[in-house]
Amino acid sequence: MAAKRFRVAGIGTTRKDSIAATSQMHDAAVVGTGPSGLVAALALAHVGADAVVIGPAPSRDGPIETRTAALLTSSVDLLKSLQVWERLANEAAPLKAIRIVDASRSPLRAPDITFEASEVGLDAFGYNIANTALVAALYARAQETLPSVIEASVTGIACDAEKARLSLSAGAPVAARLVAGADGRRSICRTSAGIGVSERRYDQSALAASFRHTLPHNNVSIELHREHGSVTTVPLPDPHASSLIWVGTQAEIEQLAQATDADFIAALGERLGDLLGAVSDPGAKAAFPVAGLTADRLAARRTALLGEAAHILPPIGAQGLNLGFRDAGALADCVADALAQGEDPGGAETLAAYAEARRLDVMTRTLGVDLLSRSLLTSLPPVQAARGIVLHGLNVLAPLKRAVMRIGLTPPTALPRLMRPRAG
Ligand SMILES: Cc1cc2nc3c(=O)[nH]c(=O)nc-3n(C[C@H](O)[C@H](O)[C@H](O)COP(=O)(O)OP(=O)(O)OC[C@H]3O[C@@H](n4cnc5c(N)ncnc54)[C@H](O)[C@@H]3O)c2cc1C
Repeated sequence: MAAKRFRVAGIGTTRKDSIAATSQMHDAAVVGTGPSGLVAALALAHVGADAVVIGPAPSRDGPIETRTAALLTSSVDLLKSLQVWERLANEAAPLKAIRIVDASRSPLRAPDITFEASEVGLDAFGYNIANTALVAALYARAQETLPSVIEASVTGIACDAEKARLSLSAGAPVAARLVAGADGRRSICRTSAGIGVSERRYDQSALAASFRHTLPHNNVSIELHREHGSVTTVPLPDPHASSLIWVGTQAEIEQLAQATDADFIAALGERLGDLLGAVSDPGAKAAFPVAGLTADRLAARRTALLGEAAHILPPIGAQGLNLGFRDAGALADCVADALAQGEDPGGAETLAAYAEARRLDVMTRTLGVDLLSRSLLTSLPPVQAARGIVLHGLNVLAPLKRAVMRIGLTPPTALPRLMRPRAG
């Protein structure tokens, strides 16, 4: 879509810009400038919708972001379709294999298992990339492509039969036919649409950081499970550096987050043993709650929810943001269909089509990740034995192992159009 190059910023907006912003009815207002919202805004613009995005600009002053995202190939294909991937390719590390190690002290320990991307005919399962690099590249592309990138918070949303009207913390209100709510776990879009949530507690936290190691990672991600927690290393572009997700009890993670670098490295070295050689140079560390949240509905009152506004999963199996990207792709499909048929992009039919397109994928991933998290946490012998038997079975039955890998990689419903691999 041709970029209309003007920009409405909440602070410093001129009076002329303000009038333009209020008098214009947009097809969609995307709320939230995290990765899900920015991808949704770009995808909507790509299919010809007049979409604006509202949220804070990425800044160094916000909460520290140490997470990386392991993006599956379908998410990378979406970034390619949106012409964002070329800005990121040099900062992303391919994930060629995933090794799962049961380091519990249980006599029913599961065998080690390695899933190779080549077993399912892929060069890589996906790519690992720092969230800060991802958001910076998406935001830069949004500034080039969208008619407005509005630096403000949404403070209220009112809907009528024709439109939604969004009040902002700064600048003129915005009118749009569809609100794409990608405003994270405390979503104002969700509340305004009258959508409740179910929450699941895990009494755990996750620490995200990065570190260096003397042995090369060979583009293998390692998931090391122990009683009450796990340590996952994910390759970074430097062969001797990986990102880290350490899941443990809240007390353990709090202690690790406050530990000196020397104490942290000692604890990490003890946990990883000789898997990656000697470890050093921990980067900044940040703790995140391990939470489960599912919106009771994915759409209502001109509002479609996506990303963490719609679902939060424990950080196991790299599903969270990949699910958010599939939400964005599906919403773009539904809006494209509505516009092609001259229908309302925020009308009841479009919202129903979106909710139906996402229902099964969100439900199966939520259940799968919840089950996996709880099975890894339990020390109940029958569950440990079942886990061991399943992993042993996968080790000896190649077709079963391939089937499990495909389930992890592919949603149960067709991929959104922008996420399908393109020829060449
Ligand atoms: C330790 C850890 C590791 C993870 N690793 C992976 C992984 O490897 N792969 C993967 O797929 N997923 C992973 N995830 C999940 C992934 O990080 C999240 O799914 C993703 O960051 C959520 O993005 P989002 O855009 O939906 O939400 P957020 O990043 O929370 O963005 C919400 C945005 O909305 C804005 N906002 C909020 N309120 C308003 C308002 N009123 N008005 C305007 N804007 C507003 C916020 O400022 C923010 O910019 C991990 C999670 C954790 C905790």
